[in-house]
Amino acid sequence: MRVEVNPNICEGHGQCNAVAPEIYDLDEGGYCLINNPEVPADAESQAEQGALACPVQAITVTR
Ligand code: SF4
Repeated sequence: MRVEVNPNICEGHGQCNAVAPEIYDLDEGGYCLINNPEVPADAESQAEQGALACPVQAITVTR
């Protein structure tokens, strides 16, 4: 599974990081930063929950 954030959509709400801090880091401005877009199998559900938590749907999950 892969996760991607669209920086043009992300508004820095930080919800992704609140739900799944291991997947979604935040930069100094509070915007989502994905250090490793390849999500390990045991973190997939966390990554999905984090993507769903984004109020502006900035995160894309692909399988
Ligand atoms: S929840 Fe959405 S808008 Fe907020 S930091 Fe994460 S990706 Fe960006």
